Amino acid sequence: MECYVCNNDLTKENETEEHIILNAIGGKLKSKKLVCKDCNSKFGFEIDNILAEQLNPIANLLDVKRDRGQPRSIKGTYQNKEILIEPGGKMKLARPYFDLDKNHFKIQTSSTKQARQVLNGLKRKYKQIDIEENLNNAKRNKSYLPSVTININFGGENTSRALCKMAVNYFIFNGGNRNEIKHLLPFINGEKAEEEVEVYYFYPKSEVFNKGDNDIYHSLISLVNPNIIFFMFLLNFLTNLKWLFF
Ligand SMILES: [Zn+2]
Repeated sequence: MECYVCNNDLTKENETEEHIILNAIGGKLKSKKLVCKDCNSKFGFEIDNILAEQLNPIANLLDVKRDRGQPRSIKGTYQNKEILIEPGGKMKLARPYFDLDKNHFKIQTSSTKQARQVLNGLKRKYKQIDIEENLNNAKRNKSYLPSVTININFGGENTSRALCKMAVNYFIFNGGNRNEIKHLLPFINGEKAEEEVEVYYFYPKSEVFNKGDNDIYHSLISLVNPNIIFFMFLLNFLTNLKWLFF
């Protein structure tokens, strides 16, 4: 067995588990027969991290399970306030907000603990503040927010390289011939541009638009003809939440 990228023999010393689809977006399938440790860490740093970062908001909202850790919390805005969305969709104010209205402070925080910290800070300047009284009289409010705006950036060359690597991983994992993908390696390695190696995104209409309401899938399909690999990368996660990239 050789690393399909650098052709070094895969040994006990340099073996590593490569996730076929990024673990950060929920990929579970992995193999020790694809790449060596050096190539795995190089790509992890150069391209996989970038794709994972771009897809983090979606991984967060869907609370994607990973081998280690959780998707990071993401920031959104609601009525000019920063909202922090925790994995799985739980929202809270990203930081305390306060306005001075005549002689009154109006403070909004996401927890009593945070309110106490703010009041402690204010008490240094305004000695008359009774922290306990204020906390006892605080209005506690739990509600559904109508809509929070979040930003998602997607795309770019490194992202395409990471997606191409997934397609190649999957192809080789399923017994594909390494010679048929070797023209893609300079692209995955960052030595040639996408158009030079003829990488195309391929999404047949029937797969993208006509999935049944109860279909949950997470699939990557590679079709090979003698010179060109087309690949399709589709993530349709949930019944009513259909996310499509590209
Ligand atoms: Zn290697």
